[in-house]
Amino acid sequence: MRKKTGDLKLMQALNRHIIFETIRNSGPIARNKIAEKIGVSPTTVASAVNELIHEGFVSEMGAGISSGGRKPILIRYEPDNRFIIGVSITHLGVYVAELNLEAKVKLKKFVAFTSLTQEQIVNQTLQEIDSFIKAYKDLKGCLGISMICAGIVDATNGVVRYNSKLNLRNVPLKQIVEERFSLHTWLDNDVNAIVLAEKYLGGFTDHDHLIYVRVGDGIGAGIISNGHILRGFNGGAGEFGHTTIDWAGIRCHCGNIGCIGNYADWSGIYSRILSEINKGTLTVMLELANGDTKQINHAVFREAIQAGDALAIQLTKEAAIHLSAGIINVVNLFNPQVIFIGGELAEGNSLLIDQIRDIVCKQSIDFLTYGLDIRGSSFGSNDELIGAAAIVLQEVFGFSVGVAH
Ligand SMILES: [Zn+2]
Repeated sequence: MRKKTGDLKLMQALNRHIIFETIRNSGPIARNKIAEKIGVSPTTVASAVNELIHEGFVSEMGAGISSGGRKPILIRYEPDNRFIIGVSITHLGVYVAELNLEAKVKLKKFVAFTSLTQEQIVNQTLQEIDSFIKAYKDLKGCLGISMICAGIVDATNGVVRYNSKLNLRNVPLKQIVEERFSLHTWLDNDVNAIVLAEKYLGGFTDHDHLIYVRVGDGIGAGIISNGHILRGFNGGAGEFGHTTIDWAGIRCHCGNIGCIGNYADWSGIYSRILSEINKGTLTVMLELANGDTKQINHAVFREAIQAGDALAIQLTKEAAIHLSAGIINVVNLFNPQVIFIGGELAEGNSLLIDQIRDIVCKQSIDFLTYGLDIRGSSFGSNDELIGAAAIVLQEVFGFSVGVAH
């Protein structure tokens, strides 16, 4: 008997999913048209639609064209009726944002971490969420809080297991946030979330082998293999920034030597900029930063590349060589169909992506590069927050949401 009840529930959920999908793709649409289109009974449609109206995902609107008799009421998708609070914990600070059901960022705030201790990071994150949600009259429309964080994340239990830069170890963040705000909370690794978003919101639903390499204040990868996120035994698969490219290289804070992140993430590049400036190398970056090296950031670096600055171009080419060393290994290990290069250093930096594409396609096993697409992110600077929304949308709708942006 138990099995039968389970089967019925599964069938109802599946029908609801298909009905919702039909409204989203073909709406505004009348109830009877939904039933005709997908071949389910009008009663099934009526009950699913009532549920969806009650939950605010769809609404009734004016009359449709009738073929005689009473004009039917049309049902339409309401992506702005409900919202998600996305939280992205980066190596520099925390973003808190409101996103709609199409993963569009409606409002976004950022605060830099004042110190990198576990206690401070957790406290500042809670404070930022608190001040963000205080602006709402009520949270009836909120589906919950979706948090993403770099490092090793146990998504099942909602625990940040390890982040060497933020000094986080075994932080039960999902539980902490849920208890504090009484809202359903999700927690996942940042790049796992983003690669999921690329597949389902970026227009790659028909791709089952995708890798997202994020190059920003740290370096990480999200891997979808055979259609599923590859998490590994301890949830740490994709720690691409800590793959070794030089055994005789820089010692990393993770304990290893020659980790790729130390050569090609923003702090690695920033150190190279400073040492070149100290050596007397001329660069437009100094001018763009009003002579203050502390003001040299990703944006300044990008502007310098566009201005043809020799140092910025040289450092981009060096970063491409280092990243390619790791990406060639990734191509040979996972045989992906598409590799996205995203993050602050890659955004708007076609030089970096073109260089990586050239090197990787020349140096990987040639059979594995046939049809391989190496490209920038579909989402730009909001990739992390869109990733956070993707985690929720996957669970709530089983991915029946539309392509945004
Ligand atoms: Zn390392």
